Amino acid sequence: MARKKDHIAAGGTGGGSRAVEGRDARALAHALELLADLSEIKGEVRFKVIAYRRAAEAVRGMGDEILETDSVARLKAIPGIGEAIARKILEFKETGTIGKLEELKEEIPEEVVSLLQVPGLGPRRARLVFEELGVRSLDDLQRAAEEHLLAPLPGLGPKVEAGILEGIKHLRGTAGRIFINQAYEQASGIVDAMLEKLPELRISAAGSLRRMKETIGDIDILAAYGEPHEVTKAFRSLPLVSKVIMSGETRSSVFTRDMLQVDLRVVDTSSWGAALQYFTGSKEHNVRLRELARRQGLKVNEYGVFRVEDDGRMAGADEEGVYAALGLSMPPPELREDRGEIEAAMRGELPSLIGLERIRGDFHVHTRDSDGYHDLEEMRAAAEKLGYSWLGISNHAANLRVARGLDADGLLALVERIEELNAKGDSPVTLLAGCELNIGNDGELDYDDEVLSRLHFAIASVHGGFGQSREAMTRRISRAMRNPFVNIIGHPTGRLIGSRPPYELDLDELLEVAAETGTALELNAFPDRLDLCDHHLRRAKEAGVKIAIGTDAHRAEHLRFMLYGVATARRGWLEGGDVLNLLDAEFLRSLFR
Ligand SMILES: [Zn+2]
Ligand SMILES: [Zn+2]
Repeated sequence: MARKKDHIAAGGTGGGSRAVEGRDARALAHALELLADLSEIKGEVRFKVIAYRRAAEAVRGMGDEILETDSVARLKAIPGIGEAIARKILEFKETGTIGKLEELKEEIPEEVVSLLQVPGLGPRRARLVFEELGVRSLDDLQRAAEEHLLAPLPGLGPKVEAGILEGIKHLRGTAGRIFINQAYEQASGIVDAMLEKLPELRISAAGSLRRMKETIGDIDILAAYGEPHEVTKAFRSLPLVSKVIMSGETRSSVFTRDMLQVDLRVVDTSSWGAALQYFTGSKEHNVRLRELARRQGLKVNEYGVFRVEDDGRMAGADEEGVYAALGLSMPPPELREDRGEIEAAMRGELPSLIGLERIRGDFHVHTRDSDGYHDLEEMRAAAEKLGYSWLGISNHAANLRVARGLDADGLLALVERIEELNAKGDSPVTLLAGCELNIGNDGELDYDDEVLSRLHFAIASVHGGFGQSREAMTRRISRAMRNPFVNIIGHPTGRLIGSRPPYELDLDELLEVAAETGTALELNAFPDRLDLCDHHLRRAKEAGVKIAIGTDAHRAEHLRFMLYGVATARRGWLEGGDVLNLLDAEFLRSLFR
C-alpha cells in the first residue's frame, strides 16, 4: 500500500491543511463526542445528544477544512450542523475547547464516559454509580460489582449487577480488541504528531497493526532517536493522551482519549531495523526466522543478526538487511504469519502484492437513493479526490425495505441519471450503474431479467435467512451465481467481526461454482466485515476466482476504507491479476456483459 518508507502514514486517509496543534478536526470531533456522552450521562434531552453525535461525524468527514470556515452561516450549510453547534465550533476554533463541555466536565469527570461501553449499564446508571459510589473507571465498577455494592442501588438489583460484571469481563476479553481502522487512524495521528515535534525521528507502527491484522489489541509504536527521553516526553504530552500508564526513559504506555492503549518503545538508531523486524512479529514468523538463523550459525534478536561463534554483528540498522543476512528477500509485514512466506522468500518467490495506488475504483457504494448519506455527485467527487477512474453505485434492492431498497422504477430512474451524468463528461470518474441485490432464501433475486439487463453490473448478497443449513445456504448462493446478471457475491460469509459469526457455508463448493461461472467474490472492506477474510482470499486465489473489493460506503468518507480492503488482500497474498479493481471501466463493462 501507499506507505512512506518506515512508518505507517496517513496515506490516502489524511490530507488537508494542518490546523493549530490540539485544534484540529480530530480534536474537535472528540470534543463533540465527549459533549454528547457527558450530556447523555447528565440526562440532557435526547435530541441534543443526537445532534452532537451527528455533528462529530460531520466534522470527522470534513477533516481540517471545517476549521477554515469562519461564519455561522457557512457552517450551518454543512449537513449535520445547526446554529448552536456552529457557534460551538467557532468557539473551539478560538479557544481550543467548548465552554459547555468544560462546565459538564466539572460536574462529571471525563473518565466516567468509559463506563458507557459496559453492556447493561447505560448513561443513567453510569451517573448513578458515579454519584452514589464514586465509581469513575472500569476498575472501580468491577470492584463495586464484586463487592455487591451495585445491587442495593435503586433500580439495579442482583441480576443487573451480575450482568454488569459479565459485561466488564466480556469487554476485557475478545471485545478488548479494536477494529483495524480505529487503530490505524489513532496510530497515524500519533506518528504525524510525533514527527511534527521531532522531524528527525524514525517512527513506525509495529506489531499486529503493522501487519494490518483485522483486529488489534494494543497499539505498538517503535521509534529511534538520539535522545530517547525526549521521545517519551513528547509522546506523553501529545494532546490525545488521556492517561499515562507507565513511563520510563525508553518505554512509555498511555491511554488515548478514545481509551486505547498505546505502547511506545524507543531504540537505538543502529538497531532500528532489527527492532522493527522483531516487534512487528508475528511470533510464529519470528520463531521460524530464529530457527533458520540457528541452522546458519547465526542468531537474531531485537538488536541485530549476530554470528554465534564470535558475536560479530552482521546486520541490524535496516530491516531489509536483517532478512538479507539470513539469505532472504524481505516479506512485506502483511505476510509475516508463517504461512509460507519464509519458504517463498528463500526461493525469491514472494508475491508481488497489490497496492492502494493501483486501485482504480470501488464496486460497492450506497447513495442517498437507498440508505446512504451522500448523493451521486458527492460520492463521485469523493472518488475523484482519491484518484479513481470509476465508481460502482450499488444501492439496496427492492426486497430490503429496511434499507430503503429501490423498486424497479426507482432503480431504472437511477440508471438513467447515472447515464446522463456520465454523458456530461465533466468528471474523470465514470459511474457504473449497479445494484446490491438480495439473494432470497432459494436464491431468487429482486427484479426480473428485463430490469437486470439495464444494469452495468450487479452484486448479490445475503441479507437475511442466516440460519439456513450449510447445504441450503450453499445451494442458495450458487443459484444466484448461476444467474448471468450477477457479477459479484457481496460479503460472501456474512460475518460481522465481534458481533455475528459467518453463516454455515461450503466455501470450496462456492469457489468451484464461482470459477465455473466467472463470478467474482467480494472483499468487503468495511472494517467490521473484511469479508472474505485473508485466509479465504488465498483459497479463492488458488481456485482462480477473481476478487472485487468494495467498501460498502454509506458516506463519502467510507470510501477510504479501501485502505483496509487492500491490506486484507495483501494478507491474502493477492496480486494484480487477482483483483478486478485494477481494471478500467470500459474493460469491466465488457467483462460484465
Ligand atoms: Zn450488504
Ligand atoms: Zn452494501
